[in-house]
Amino acid sequence: MPAIQRDDLTADETSRENARVNLGLALEAYPLWVERLTCRDLKRAFLAECSAAVPHYRNLFQGAVRDLDRFPVIDRADHDDRRLDFISTDFEDPRGEFLRISTNGTFGRTLRVAWDLPSFFDLNHASYLRFSTVLPAFFSSLVPGEPSVFVISDSPRDLRTSVVMPALDGAILRRLILGRDEMTDVALVEHLRRARIALLHAKPSVLLDLIELDGAHDGGGRIAPAYVVCSGENLYPDDRARIEAGLGCSVLDAYAASEAGLIAYECRHRTGMHVVTDHLTVEVEAGDGSLGPTGTGQLLITNALNWRHAFIRYRIGDRATVTSGECGCGHDGQTIVAMPGRERAAYGDGTGSITAEEIGAAVAAADPPVKQFQVAPGEDHRIVISWVGRPGGDTALAAVLRGRFPGARFELVNVPAINLPGGKLRRFL
Ligand SMILES: [Zn+2]
Repeated sequence: MPAIQRDDLTADETSRENARVNLGLALEAYPLWVERLTCRDLKRAFLAECSAAVPHYRNLFQGAVRDLDRFPVIDRADHDDRRLDFISTDFEDPRGEFLRISTNGTFGRTLRVAWDLPSFFDLNHASYLRFSTVLPAFFSSLVPGEPSVFVISDSPRDLRTSVVMPALDGAILRRLILGRDEMTDVALVEHLRRARIALLHAKPSVLLDLIELDGAHDGGGRIAPAYVVCSGENLYPDDRARIEAGLGCSVLDAYAASEAGLIAYECRHRTGMHVVTDHLTVEVEAGDGSLGPTGTGQLLITNALNWRHAFIRYRIGDRATVTSGECGCGHDGQTIVAMPGRERAAYGDGTGSITAEEIGAAVAAADPPVKQFQVAPGEDHRIVISWVGRPGGDTALAAVLRGRFPGARFELVNVPAINLPGGKLRRFL
């Protein structure tokens, strides 16, 4: 990666050529995205196409199959081992490098997802159109031709870049990187304080770091976005409260993945995350292996928008509880109401068990506050809590834990950070 020579955050690290190609792709993709979403019987048409053009399904069926019930559940390992078997032989695009993205590698190997134009447009552009349906003043906060959507990343792999958003009145989405070095972080805070931010989008842990920097930096003003969207990590209630207080606006929680695009997002009623069902089919795999539209278990995703790389009944690796019904916002259908993701629900202490929620509530009660923490089972039924916070914080934390769980043994480890930059923060291992 090239070293940053200056702290001028208006300078992109990706080339003008890259920006030009990206804008060209977006303009070309927009009508194709509309056409695909309005395609009659999209989900069945997608399955028929996959059974004809995707090697894995062509070999399995020898003929067009339109019924999802006939498709088997596919694991991430199947995609890792035989990636090309799930890529349609109908697509050849010389701009392929712009239409590929790697999944976050926190949970093992990364998977390179190949997009076609509609699915490229959906994740990079249309996600914001979908958010706008639940953020009433979003469009009036956008400034055409100016940066007004900011995505903050802490991944060392990401580069600073700007993207023109034709679907957002030509406003510019600017991705900035946090955590490179102290000078760049200060410049980033000053830049964001001056900017008119219609939407700030980042992982919760990145927003908390940003709020801490903003609070510690002198000078006038504060970062003041009109709206904040979180995705990429679980949003815990205590972190949400800190983000809302720190940025002075409400937070919308969203669930997205490279394999599926935007999967679900909240509305202002906060009844859970409503599933995007126009092109996605979300199923729940219960402990006994049965599949259904609601319940608690592993999530299976079928993404009928991406005709290039087939994800059908794909076990995405997240556990959740899905319900169905009407919400005050007008949504009528599936809603993800609990999203423990890949996290542990309880810890044995030798005699019984303590839930992750109880431990989280105890840590949140410590004063001075713990900034971030992670819980893991240790040896001899000890529960290990790694924590980030001010020195001396372990005394207060130990006292709270002793008071609430007198029989349990905890091991407290003060660490400078929970995970590597760019990783997904997980609280309960
Ligand atoms: Zn709703």
